[in-house]
Amino acid sequence: RMKSTSSIRNTFIKYFIDNHAHKFVKSSSVVPLCDPTVPFVNAGMNQFKGVFLGTVNAPCPRAVNSQKCIRVGGKHNDLDLVGTDSHHHTFFEMLGNWSFGDYYKKEACQMAWDLLLGPYRLKPDDLVVTYFAGDPTMKLNEDRECRDIWKSLGVSPSRIKGLGASDNFWEMGLTGPCGPCTEIHVVNPDGSLTEIWNLVFIQFNRETDGSVTSLSRHHVDTGMGLERMAKLLQGVPSNYDTDIFKPLIKAIEKNSKNVPAYSGQYTESSTLDCAYRRLADHSRMISVCLADGVFPANSLNVKQIMRKSFKICSDVFNNPHLLSNLYDEVAATLGSTYPELVSNKSSAKLIIEHEAQAYAKMRAGLVKKWKDLVMRYPEVESLNDVETPGFALGYKEFKETVSKLNTSIIPGELIFKLYDTHGLQEELINRIAELNNMTTDKEGFQQLLSKHKHRHKTAFKEQALNKTILFNDAIDRLIKNGISRTNDLFKYNYEI
Ligand code: ATP
Ligand code: MG
Ligand code: MG
Ligand code: MG
Repeated sequence: RMKSTSSIRNTFIKYFIDNHAHKFVKSSSVVPLCDPTVPFVNAGMNQFKGVFLGTVNAPCPRAVNSQKCIRVGGKHNDLDLVGTDSHHHTFFEMLGNWSFGDYYKKEACQMAWDLLLGPYRLKPDDLVVTYFAGDPTMKLNEDRECRDIWKSLGVSPSRIKGLGASDNFWEMGLTGPCGPCTEIHVVNPDGSLTEIWNLVFIQFNRETDGSVTSLSRHHVDTGMGLERMAKLLQGVPSNYDTDIFKPLIKAIEKNSKNVPAYSGQYTESSTLDCAYRRLADHSRMISVCLADGVFPANSLNVKQIMRKSFKICSDVFNNPHLLSNLYDEVAATLGSTYPELVSNKSSAKLIIEHEAQAYAKMRAGLVKKWKDLVMRYPEVESLNDVETPGFALGYKEFKETVSKLNTSIIPGELIFKLYDTHGLQEELINRIAELNNMTTDKEGFQQLLSKHKHRHKTAFKEQALNKTILFNDAIDRLIKNGISRTNDLFKYNYEI
C-alpha cells in the first residue's frame, strides 16, 4: 500500500484536471498579499477571496491546486498542538478544488467520494462524514440537502453526522467568505476520527460588524490535508512516519550529538519524541517562510518559532546549526513542488545563520544574568531557569515585596505582576512559592488573569477589524477613482 506523497499530490491534481475539467492554479506565497485579515495564508481559498466576494473575476470556472498553508496566529492557530498529536502542523499542504459559481454541493460531494473510493482506494467503512446541523444564533437551518446527498451516494446513515457551527461552518478569519461545510473523516484503528477533507459551500460573507450577508453566487471550496492522506495511504502510525517527515527526523538524528533515536512515542513522558516532531515541523514552516521572502524581523510569529527551534537545537540536540541542515532536507523533499525553496536557498540559509548567532548571543547574555542572580539569591539555583528574560528583575521584586508583607501567601496582585510585567509563567511562580515556603492566592490571580485576557482579546479583535475597515475603505476609494473593479489590484493574487 506504499504511495509516495508526491504521487498522492499528483493523483489529486490529475483527477480534477482530467476527469472534471479543472485548471491548475499555482500555490500562492504563504504571505497573504493584499489581505490584512490573516497573519499567513491558512487555506487554499485565501488567494480566491476576491473571486468569492465578487470583486475579482474568476481565473476559470473550476480550479485545482496544492497550497502552502500556515496555521500560526489568528483564527486558525494550531501551534500549541504541534508535536503532541500526529496530524496538526504549523505548515502543511492543502490540496483543493474550486467551483467559482459553477458546480455546487451534489457534484462536489460526488467528485470527492469518487476520488477517495476510486484512485485512492479507500473503503466506505474507513470513512465518516459530517454536515452542518444548523445554528439558531446565526438563524441558519440544518443542511438537509447535504445530508441527503451523502445518502444518495450510498453512505450508510450511521456514518453521516450533523454537527454545529464550531465544526461545520467554515470561516477564514474574523471576516471574509464563509459557509456551511461537510467534513470527511477517516476511522483510525483505535476508533478515533481524523479529518482528511473539508468541502465548504461558500455562500456568505462575515462582515466587519460581525453580521453574515449572502453572496450573490454560490461557490465550492475544498481542502484536503496532504500529510494526513500520506499517513493514511502509507499505512503508518503518524504523519511523522511518512516519506515527507522521515527524512527530517533522520536528519535530526544524524546531526545531533549523543541523543537517542526517535521512537515514535506519544505518551506524557516522551518529551524527546515531542522535540523531534516539533523541530521537524518548525523547520518546514521556517524554511517555507524564508523562501517566500518573510524576514524574521518583520514577522513576530516567524521570529518566535525560530527562537523556539534554536532552543530545541541547542538544548535537546546539542547542535546550534541543526536548523540550517534541516533547510536542505526541506528543499530536498518539497523543492520540486515549490521551486522557490531551491532558488532562494542561499539567502534563506544566510538568514538562519544570522538568527542563530543572534540567539546564541542573547542566550549568553541570559546565562550571565542568571549567574549574577544566583550569587545574590543562592536558593534560585535549583530552579535552573536561564531562559525567562524577566526572571532576575521579577525575583528581586518578589523578594522585596514579600519581605515587607507579613504573610505566607503570595497575593494575587503580586503573582499577576510577576506574570504580566516580568513574563514569569504560572508554573515557575508556583516553584518560587515552594522554594520560599509560601503558598499562592490562586483565586485572586485567576480573577485578574481572566479580566486581562478578556481585555486583550477584545483589543486584539478591535485592532484586526479596524485594519480591515481601513483596508476596505481604501479599496472603495480606488474603485471610485476609476480602477476597473479590483481585478487590476488583485490579479497577482492568483497565477496560472
Ligand atoms: P481539524 O478539525 O483536524 O483541526 P480543520 O477543520 O481545522 O481540521 P480545515 O480548516 O477544514 O481543518 O482544513 C482543511 C483540511 O486541512 C483538513 O481537513 C485537514 O485535512 C487539513 N488540516 C487542517 N489543519 C491542519 C494542520 N494544522 N496540519 C495539517 N493538516 C491540517
Ligand atoms: Mg483545526
Ligand atoms: Mg475540523
Ligand atoms: Mg474542517
